[in-house]
Amino acid sequence: MESNNELNNLTCQINGHSNLKIIGFCIDPNCNSNNKFACQECFFDIHSGHKLMKLEKLNSIIQDKLKDYKTIVEDVKKKKELYDKYEKLQLGHLEELKQKIFGEIEAKINEYKEKIKRKLKGINNNDNKISMNIKNYEEYFVGNAAPVQRPDLLKLSEICSGIYKEKDSAMARNNNNERNNRIKQLYEETTKSNEDFLRAQYTSISRYLQQNFLISRYTFEWCRKTYGGYDFFYELINNNTKATKKMSQGTMTVLRSKEPLYDNHLYKFKFKIGLKNVGDYDVGIGTDKTGDSCWLRTKESICISNTGVINMDINMDNSIKLKDKDIVDLEINTKNGNKSFKGYINKKLVCLIDFDIKDNIFIMAAMRNVGSFIEVDSYEIIPLD
Ligand SMILES: [Zn+2]
Ligand SMILES: [Zn+2]
Repeated sequence: MESNNELNNLTCQINGHSNLKIIGFCIDPNCNSNNKFACQECFFDIHSGHKLMKLEKLNSIIQDKLKDYKTIVEDVKKKKELYDKYEKLQLGHLEELKQKIFGEIEAKINEYKEKIKRKLKGINNNDNKISMNIKNYEEYFVGNAAPVQRPDLLKLSEICSGIYKEKDSAMARNNNNERNNRIKQLYEETTKSNEDFLRAQYTSISRYLQQNFLISRYTFEWCRKTYGGYDFFYELINNNTKATKKMSQGTMTVLRSKEPLYDNHLYKFKFKIGLKNVGDYDVGIGTDKTGDSCWLRTKESICISNTGVINMDINMDNSIKLKDKDIVDLEINTKNGNKSFKGYINKKLVCLIDFDIKDNIFIMAAMRNVGSFIEVDSYEIIPLD
């Protein structure tokens, strides 16, 4: 036992008390002694008539406090570790995002440089063709700079004819104008395309920052980006945490986590269910491979639905049925080699399914009827060791 900090082996140090064992502690408000520890002699001496407590009792109070203190210290330590993990995870994600954005801009810059280079080369080639004759003329005399005895009159004649023919041609006259126009056009084209690119980047970044909710650690997006054509089927309220289907009877995914589940984490999500007029309604996880109208009753998904707990397209328990106003808690453990899906309806455990889906897995919700909704109430993601 932890005898080091226990009070059971103290002896009295008062003269004449023969190192007797301390057995009590004075708690008397009128006691004037600085030494509150008492042996059996002290009872009749310094602490005579005082209110005393058994030493074991004091010891047990102190040990209890010590235990509480250690628990708190341990708790703080654990919280700190968890926080560090979150921080690392977040910084990693932000770094990835930064690299992705920078990479795209870098690629655009290179593309722009290449395009300009290519076009200017084209313009120069064209200019060269146009001025070929006069250029040849100049070169002819450079090449024959020494006093020429017998100039190649045939060649010179050919060059001169070319120049003469070009003399009146619109192409030659407009040569300069045309080149300037081409360069101007190139400038305008690339400027517009760069501006469009930057605008698109800005839009997507600001949408990332504003439209998605649950930004801090794990972001969901309503299907706007992934299922581009479906954004008009639902509307977002409550600071984008709630999506209500407002159009088109047909089962489709309304909510999907922005990122796939990472390995070695525990994901805890609490959803509020709004299920109008029965209709399909699924909350769970899946690979997102079945296309635009992807929903969760496929061979690569697990969900709790209005018709039962469905695991890889098989209804495991049709006595479980999601209803309007239910609260669904999902606990998804992605520990390597030991992945599990735990579902609760109104705090009652309704399923525990081990899974081993190889592809990227997303958290999703799909529904059929207009008026149905899903709301993310809270979430927590805990990195595992
Ligand atoms: Zn004593
Ligand atoms: Zn006393």
